[in-house]
Amino acid sequence: MIKLCVFDMDGTTVDTLHTIAHYANGILEENGIATFPDEAYKDFVGAGALNMFLAVRERTGFAGELAVRMKDEWIRRYAADPLHLTRAYGGIADMLKALRDSGIKTAILTNKDQRLADAIAASLFPGGLAGPVLGDRPGRALKPDPGELLSLMRGLGVSPDECLYVGDTPIDMKTGRAAGCLTCGVSWGFRPVSSLLGSGADFIVSSPGDIVRCCAASALPDGGRPFPSTVRFPFGKQLLCFDLDGTLTQHRSGLEPENRAMLDELCRGHKVVIVGAGNCERIYAQTGGYPVDIIGNYGMQESTCSGGDFRVVRVDRSEPDRDYFVRTCAMLRSKYGFTEYAGEPLEFHSSGMVTFPLLGTAADIADKLAFDPDRAKRRRMYGEVLSLFPDYSVFIGGTSSFDFTGKRYNKYDAIMRYAGEHGYDPSRILYVGDDFSDGGGDSHVRTGGLDYVEVADYRRTPAALAFLTAGQTGPDQAGNS
Ligand SMILES: [Mg+2]
Repeated sequence: MIKLCVFDMDGTTVDTLHTIAHYANGILEENGIATFPDEAYKDFVGAGALNMFLAVRERTGFAGELAVRMKDEWIRRYAADPLHLTRAYGGIADMLKALRDSGIKTAILTNKDQRLADAIAASLFPGGLAGPVLGDRPGRALKPDPGELLSLMRGLGVSPDECLYVGDTPIDMKTGRAAGCLTCGVSWGFRPVSSLLGSGADFIVSSPGDIVRCCAASALPDGGRPFPSTVRFPFGKQLLCFDLDGTLTQHRSGLEPENRAMLDELCRGHKVVIVGAGNCERIYAQTGGYPVDIIGNYGMQESTCSGGDFRVVRVDRSEPDRDYFVRTCAMLRSKYGFTEYAGEPLEFHSSGMVTFPLLGTAADIADKLAFDPDRAKRRRMYGEVLSLFPDYSVFIGGTSSFDFTGKRYNKYDAIMRYAGEHGYDPSRILYVGDDFSDGGGDSHVRTGGLDYVEVADYRRTPAALAFLTAGQTGPDQAGNS
């Protein structure tokens, strides 16, 4: 449970870009050095004032001692009018107030000169709203050194796993990581989200209200981490995609009341889609006619349902190379010792999907269940099967078989197609499934890079997704500007 939120200042709580650029460009100009557009300073800031001038020097080339003199002059001018062109980002003050109202401590940790940081915080967050302000002063190591953050936590009696560190640059993410905190990147700051994820951000928020929601999620009964590490954009989800068997229901069973109620609640704020291995009719029937869009057969089919009217709206077919399947699967049978089988050695479905049942199409159900319960037999073969069928998506299916679809028919490509047609950004998609290991039905979602939640038991799915609805009464998402 989060008890302390520590914020970076520039680019995180306060938009100082134009101020920083204004004072720096003035000094560069007076020294006959080329100036930079304000946007360029996004790359120069984050590591303290001297490092900013050293970054400028790298681009322009001037004597090192001049950088030190310019830094001193920059701080002098800045301190004379620290709020010129500076504003707090929209929603920050409301967020700070909401956190403090719910008993969460706040602080600012910045590489900005202490005098400047104090002046800005006193003016934009009056009454000590932001909590202690820790800036650059003699004797303090700059971020990414975690020392200052660690001593702040010690002083407040908060452990690293109870502290959220929020910032907008890779230096911030490294600082939070080094201190052992949960580390949150903001999308509105000076650096791209990709650089924050690449430098260790646990997750990204796109509005100050998301930080309140994160803290609310951390206080859920399950406690601890607010959401799984496989979710990098936990807030503002629009499209929720669910696997069926093992995720929403027991294998081939109906939808139980708890999971139906969860879907009802999630449908109020999200688009919900079921993405299954079976065909749309079967999935629709298994859910008892739950009225959502269904992507069936790994994307070969799509259905919709409104006002009780179920309609299949798309059916793709693909034509597998039957001769190749017959030859290659026979080779695999003899290589791995599965030459004895009941019924047919292969099953070609009308959709174009192919099943390679190692025990044959007519094997006894008890034999099938006992054959490979931990999938070890099929995992051993999986890499080779995959390399022999480069034009197909290959799944370790059912109890004792491999399933094949055309290459682009897998849950990742199917969801991306649906998202493209319906206008959802990938960062707004969350997939929920139970089988992400190599060859599993949900594996392509993991390797494709979508946010996902892995559930071990369909009865635990509502608890695993509680973060989606936690703190819904926090400050409005649109607060950020
Ligand atoms: Mg910053």
